[in-house]
Amino acid sequence: MVNHPPLHVVAFGRPGSGKSSLAERLGEAHGFAMVRTGVLLRDAVRQGDALGRQVEALLAAGRLVPDDLAYEVLARDLSALRHNRLLFDGFPRTLGQVPLMARLEQAVGFEIERYVEIAVSPDEALARMGGRRVCPTCAATYHLRKSPPKAEGVCDRDGTPLVGRADDAPEVLGVRQAVYDEHTGPVVEHYRRTAPDRFVAIDGEQPFEEVSRDLERALGLS
Ligand code: ADP
Repeated sequence: MVNHPPLHVVAFGRPGSGKSSLAERLGEAHGFAMVRTGVLLRDAVRQGDALGRQVEALLAAGRLVPDDLAYEVLARDLSALRHNRLLFDGFPRTLGQVPLMARLEQAVGFEIERYVEIAVSPDEALARMGGRRVCPTCAATYHLRKSPPKAEGVCDRDGTPLVGRADDAPEVLGVRQAVYDEHTGPVVEHYRRTAPDRFVAIDGEQPFEEVSRDLERALGLS
């Protein structure tokens, strides 16, 4: 295995910004372990454990789960965070989670070197979200217009019929944008102000390949 120099990154971007696809690409190309609270929370719902039962309705409604539960889903497996390259996708997401991120850094013993914002306008984000499909088996994501599966309606990797995410229902999309503006926008501003030398914003409205290249550059990876 390649021994990458340490790099710990937090990625921000409104729902529909392409953040998760970009993060996935970056993770595969540069050896990051992905830390996705959304995925961990949906896993907990699927498993039906105590945490999953507490958050199920909130997730389906596109609302945030309480800060302590977002922290718990990460902290219950600290060993997964002992990795020299971590990419956080979905945490911290509220101002209340900013000190919890500091606590996590302390508990595991790493430091965030880069905060990256994938900047996309609310209108563009909404337009992109309508066509998203996901594989319920392996979590691969597709977009009906921009990255369709090879065979219509089924996953390229395992042939499972694709589904829309519960929180991609049209009536929930607007809620998720509003939740981002109200809760996560201030977190982005917080780091932009308090850690300007570690903060970078990228134009997320360019074609995917260009955003991806800008992201690699911003992290000193190309
Ligand atoms: P997206 O970024 O596309 O909205 P995610 O997969 O990151 O989706 O998150 C899905 C859902 O999981 C969110 O709408 C929210 O309900 C919950 N969630 C994820 N991360 C957090 C967090 N840090 N704090 C509170 N809720 C969270």
